[in-house]
Amino acid sequence: MSTDPKTSAAGGLDIVRTQIAKAALRAGRSANDITLVAVSKTFPVEHIRPVLEAGQRVFGENRVQDAQQKWPTLRNDCPDAHVHLIGPLQSNKAKDAVALFDAIHSVDRPKIARVLAEEMDRQDRRPDVFLQINTGEEPQKAGMLPADADDFIQSCVEEHGLPVRGLMCIPPADENPALHFALLAKIAARNGLNGLSMGMSGDFETAIEQGATHVRVGSAIFGSRG
Ligand SMILES: *Cc1c(COP(=O)(O)O)cnc(C)c1O
Repeated sequence: MSTDPKTSAAGGLDIVRTQIAKAALRAGRSANDITLVAVSKTFPVEHIRPVLEAGQRVFGENRVQDAQQKWPTLRNDCPDAHVHLIGPLQSNKAKDAVALFDAIHSVDRPKIARVLAEEMDRQDRRPDVFLQINTGEEPQKAGMLPADADDFIQSCVEEHGLPVRGLMCIPPADENPALHFALLAKIAARNGLNGLSMGMSGDFETAIEQGATHVRVGSAIFGSRG
């Protein structure tokens, strides 16, 4: 593998794809049911291009403004590239987020759900939505508490008519992620949702074993963010 960070990202992508295929096989699942979201946050377009050229089409960014700077150019070169927002969203950025992203993984409170629904109607554009659940009940972390999840999901779907694809979580760093993935899967199942956005570089294989449909992998592809 090349030591040039730009070209080694394509090597990292290859390795991650193989690991996803193996984890899917172990879990008795089809790798086609798992979307790899290549998290390109903080990396410049020159690092992203080789990954696009290697055939990756779904990318994750954590800030609206960064994505606005990087993705118009990249999409111009590659119109079928999809960009997902994986980071926190402020209401005053909802308009830009609806205009730019193909999916939003981080809908974490009633207010942003309402503002997004209004923007989607206004723009007649409906990116997929994932609702973030704070499975570890960490005070510093975004997301609805598990106890409030059912009501939140119901109001997003029925009251706001949001295109809710599934749920998302980020497990506490110091706990067994499998328990959090299993909890997220359970909440999704009892609410009739199929999408599970869970698993990052350190735990995406575990997430796949627990039913992840979207894994968000950054550093294992692009290298460390410095
Ligand atoms: C940064 C980030 C990721 C990717 O993390 P890695 O450990 O680099 O794979 C995934 N999900 C979210 C929400 C992130 O902010």
